[in-house]
Amino acid sequence: MDTKIIDGKLISDQIKEELREKTAKLISEKGVTPCLAVILVGEDPASQVYVRNKEKACEKIGYKSMAYKLPASTSTDELLELIDKLNKDKEVHGILVQLPLPSHIDEKKVLNFIDPSKDVDGFHPMNVGALCIGEEGFVSCTPAGIIELLKRSGVEIAGKECVIIGRSNIVGKPMALLMLRENATVTVTHSKTKDLPGVCKRADIVIAAIGKAKAITADYIKEGAVVIDVGINRNEETGKLCGDVDYENVAPKCSYITPVPGGVGPMTIAMLMKNCYDSAIRHMGA
Ligand code: NDP
Repeated sequence: MDTKIIDGKLISDQIKEELREKTAKLISEKGVTPCLAVILVGEDPASQVYVRNKEKACEKIGYKSMAYKLPASTSTDELLELIDKLNKDKEVHGILVQLPLPSHIDEKKVLNFIDPSKDVDGFHPMNVGALCIGEEGFVSCTPAGIIELLKRSGVEIAGKECVIIGRSNIVGKPMALLMLRENATVTVTHSKTKDLPGVCKRADIVIAAIGKAKAITADYIKEGAVVIDVGINRNEETGKLCGDVDYENVAPKCSYITPVPGGVGPMTIAMLMKNCYDSAIRHMGA
């Protein structure tokens, strides 16, 4: 099989470049600079890297970014107070609270308090509901990025059998709704699914989001299938990143596959940036 490797880094760079051009125009013609506020509570090293990467992406595209780095001892009420201020600030178009939050903070209360029109992560129930009934809103960045990867790689989605492995609120469920919107025939699987390899083998498109290193082996995949690997796992022996898919053995059977790293991962920030631009445009008309 002539396997094509989907280059998420390249596609995410293209999206960011398109946004950079559109942003320069928005600033010069309308005097509006998209602005993303990122809130980090505590000192989790991985979260610090994610926040820094979001700031860097903003700088590269020409957005204003505001980073609020709060101590781990911050209370739920203090966090809500800051979000209230950002909700009311007309210059701010996107508000993102970096997860995970320290355990004493009421995460649900915090996320639900973000103004849905600035919820660029797409986690607010209003945005999830909008996706469900086909209305305009913000879509969770990782699944939105996967749709872009498929479309920009020329993969046809309409009428295809798609099996999604995993049903989390941030990946599996919104992914299913997006694939349905693109007219795929969608099956969502999870840890209680019977005969997972048999179900996956029916699929033209397999999207794996389970968080288990190399769990999806060649027996799960039909010859010629498209395989999207969302998983980010650390290989205990080598310390290297790997996906949920056993890449070496699965890739030769696929028509298209995403690598880890360099596949889905870079798309998440690119789509966050796109949501922030879209928010700036929507707020202009508000
Ligand atoms: P969750 O842990 O929230 O959900 C995992 C899902 O996988 C659950 O629905 C679970 O089923 C299902 N599952 C677990 N084990 C199996 C199994 N053996 N067979 C079938 N289904 C199984 O994970 P997330 O959705 O948050 O993340 C999944 C992966 O994607 C992780 O590796 C994460 O790091 C990565 N990720 C990557 C992103 C990126 O930017 N590339 C962004 C977000 C996540 P059940 O519901 O029955 O428990």
